[in-house]
Amino acid sequence: YPTNELMVARRNEACPNGLPSKSGIYAAKAQGAELWDVEGKRYIDFIAGIGVLNVGHNHPKVMQAARDQMEKVVHTCFGVAQYEPYIELAERLNKLVSEAGGGKSNYKTMFMNTGSEATEHVCKFARRITGRPGLISFEGSFHGRTLLATALTGKSRPYKEGFGPLPGDVYHAPYPHEYKGMSTQGSLACLNHIFETSIHPSDVAAILIEPVQGEGGFVPAPREFLQGLRDICDQHGIMFIADEVQTGFARTGTMFAIEQSGVEPDFLVCAKSIAGGFPLSAVIGKTDLFDQIGPGGMGSTYGGNPVACAAALAVLDVIEEDGLLQRAEEIGAKVESRWNELAQGVGKGVFGDVRRVGAMAAVEMVTDGDPMKPNSDAAAKIQGRARELGLITLTAGKKAQVIRTHVPLVASDAIIDEGLDIFAQATKDVLG
Ligand code: PMP
Repeated sequence: YPTNELMVARRNEACPNGLPSKSGIYAAKAQGAELWDVEGKRYIDFIAGIGVLNVGHNHPKVMQAARDQMEKVVHTCFGVAQYEPYIELAERLNKLVSEAGGGKSNYKTMFMNTGSEATEHVCKFARRITGRPGLISFEGSFHGRTLLATALTGKSRPYKEGFGPLPGDVYHAPYPHEYKGMSTQGSLACLNHIFETSIHPSDVAAILIEPVQGEGGFVPAPREFLQGLRDICDQHGIMFIADEVQTGFARTGTMFAIEQSGVEPDFLVCAKSIAGGFPLSAVIGKTDLFDQIGPGGMGSTYGGNPVACAAALAVLDVIEEDGLLQRAEEIGAKVESRWNELAQGVGKGVFGDVRRVGAMAAVEMVTDGDPMKPNSDAAAKIQGRARELGLITLTAGKKAQVIRTHVPLVASDAIIDEGLDIFAQATKDVLG
């Protein structure tokens, strides 16, 4: 039988050091919000493949849909022979994104495999449509690891350092975060400053934003900020692109986070939880914009793979049938209230900010209650202790000072309580 120790040795021999593998957990099987390692140790999984499993591990309906599709056709390449699951999924996403934006516009969808591909391509498309080079994204953002996606990402170490030259004409504005002293007004003023000093708005193709920053530490953009951005985009003919790779598919209590701002995106990209664990990403854009790109201007060998599309259709059914939008809110409230208790008690001075949108919940660790003094040490230790006790969480944020959770939205109250008990115990063990 493999042991974790053996697997670590083989992994170190076979795979490069640069691959993140801090957990040392070697998964043997998983179901719902639980995962068992190769030695049979059980974990409660509050990270769900980094926001990929909103419907939980191996959801029976999703697995069945994938199996059924596997019996029919697994791959053709959409450019060679087309198939209904691709079209049906596009139809459903077009409708969902239109609704999220207030029902004013029609959308079309094309599929790829990963979030990076989607963010990278949507920016190519925006350049092609506007005939402009400039791209604006935000400090602290994460958009992926391909070259343009790396350039878009707003954190240099470990993503950019030494990996250049990166594509040019990408500018970063500060993301609003009141807790750290950056207001909506301040952030919009900085954007205007970029227009004055670095790139004229008439040269900007797109502004790309995560409505809630994921890797950046679960920081929500205020409604007024997103509306301010939309106004700027309208004024200057700039494309507004929502990166919903981490926020999509019920995580924030709505199908897409942008819905909560009343802002209509020109394009929306999604991936992760779209297909319940199968690799799939999508670029969804306004019909009149998307159709400006002629035949051959986009494509992908595997993009929109039939099995992934069939799984994604089942994911959409599960979100609807199981009421997961509502459940996200309940789960988030549960996590938040337990963490607020800790913040008043053993976590006093360290649990600086407990924040969430729906079930996208995180706690920022600080020193002496000071928002400007990130406490990555406490975050790492609590996360590590929780793992020893059987709970998987993950850090995020500029200094990895935030502990974040992506609790599967199918998790029962009993499992969530058990996970939160472990988290409280870990906090006591580290800070008590
Ligand atoms: N955008 C966002 C908001 C993400 O969170 C991620 C992945 N963490 C990506 C893009 C890149 O996705 P992928 O790893 O599938 O390329």
